[in-house]
Amino acid sequence: MAFLTNPPPAGIYIHIPFCAQKCLYCDFYSITDQSLQEAFVAALFREIAATKSLLSFDTLYIGGGTPSILPAHQIGRIIERISEQFNLEESTEITLEVNPGTVTRQALKAYRQCGVTRLNIGVQSFQDSHLQWLGRIHSADAAIDAILWARAAGFEQIGMDLIYGIPGQSRQAWLADLRLALSFEPEHLSCYMLTCEPETPLDRMRRHQVFEAMTDGDVCDLFETTVTELSGNGYPLYEISNFARKDNSPDANRSRHNQKYWTDVPYLGFGPAAHSYLNPVRYRNHRDINAYMSDLNSGALPMAEKETLSVEQQLMETVFLGLRTREGISIRRFEEKSDRPFNILFQDILTDPELKKLIMLTPEHCSLTCQGMMVLDSIAGIFVDRI
Ligand code: SF4
Repeated sequence: MAFLTNPPPAGIYIHIPFCAQKCLYCDFYSITDQSLQEAFVAALFREIAATKSLLSFDTLYIGGGTPSILPAHQIGRIIERISEQFNLEESTEITLEVNPGTVTRQALKAYRQCGVTRLNIGVQSFQDSHLQWLGRIHSADAAIDAILWARAAGFEQIGMDLIYGIPGQSRQAWLADLRLALSFEPEHLSCYMLTCEPETPLDRMRRHQVFEAMTDGDVCDLFETTVTELSGNGYPLYEISNFARKDNSPDANRSRHNQKYWTDVPYLGFGPAAHSYLNPVRYRNHRDINAYMSDLNSGALPMAEKETLSVEQQLMETVFLGLRTREGISIRRFEEKSDRPFNILFQDILTDPELKKLIMLTPEHCSLTCQGMMVLDSIAGIFVDRI
């Protein structure tokens, strides 16, 4: 039994490990055998029942995999179990990831009725040729239907995921995707750069030269296009891949849940491959549904790894995750853990004439300019080397 104590508000993540088929680029854990759905939900309920926490929570994120492949009543049961077991604040953000190829108008209504407050729709592209190339199961029309049905079902918080950097994608084609997405006035947009994660079919195709990957320069150009187009339309970037509609306040439509990952807030993860974090300890569940269910069926927690982060690792995470965000590294949070002041430790970086152009420094934060974000990994590496 896990017994957890730490300051609120924390987040809860549930990993639903089923997909209709695997997309070429995906390295999230999921299987396509749907016959295990019932047994998985039973095991998930055991895991939830075996976890106690004194924290209060203000986010529940149901991701995957493809959560919308489960019947809506199962999503309702999961939300109910979590609400019974944990102290969820009244205004808890409850997000569900939805694949347009798996939803109906009725299912979306049912999700809303069972308490989901926010939908994240995996649109990825509005061009059928791109969707097919990526191995998605849905068409652009199906994505548009899902967006319209979600609004009709009463969702006031809708996010869309889009992918750029698809081989052969022109700037104009990407702009067309962004503009069509904006025409639906979503509250949130996530724009992910296509990456060849190791051991994915996409990675193997690249190694066998089945396609020519876009050059770094062209991908940077698309990133810059994204930032310019979205910020010009009232969707400023708040993390390297995330943009929220500004409305009355800059953070009104941000993903409350995802921000916890970047700002050192605790979270509990349930389901295969899910991670939990309770500073300074991180846990990971088995990345295998059978091992996950087998542990729970024999009364054990399905933990595959438990790691206590050293101070050095915590500082590296504060830097790496902080630089991904518009706000940047919180200097106060960094100095709470470090025995050296931020400005002294990184003095040579902060005064380097070339790097200075890419970095913004205030008394509270150190962040990257848009140009700096394009070379995020290199700059984060330079910082991390000094720790
Ligand atoms: S639907 Fe999502 S989780 Fe499933 S394979 Fe495709 S990208 Fe991965």
